Amino acid sequence: MVFPTPSDIIKVLEKIPEWTGLMRLPSRISALERKVAELERQLAERPARDACPSCGKPLTIGETRPHPTFGVMGMRVRGLRCAACGFTTEKEIKPGEV
Ligand SMILES: [Zn+2]
Repeated sequence: MVFPTPSDIIKVLEKIPEWTGLMRLPSRISALERKVAELERQLAERPARDACPSCGKPLTIGETRPHPTFGVMGMRVRGLRCAACGFTTEKEIKPGEV
């Protein structure tokens, strides 16, 4: 009985479109991670739409994390901070909201 060599197996796998798509995933994931990091950096630099209830200056967007209870449904909690007076608060973000 003749067993296929690893290079024989790879040649067969390379003829399967799904396999070649899988082989491209690591570079695609890396590219997407870089895009997400850049978008998160841009988002962090944007002032929030909300004004500080203490001094009226625009609040800056901080960390966004999944909601402790409804995170599995896409709800998030976003930290907001006032750079002028140090006031901090959190805002619940519903799925689909920016
Ligand atoms: Zn303030």
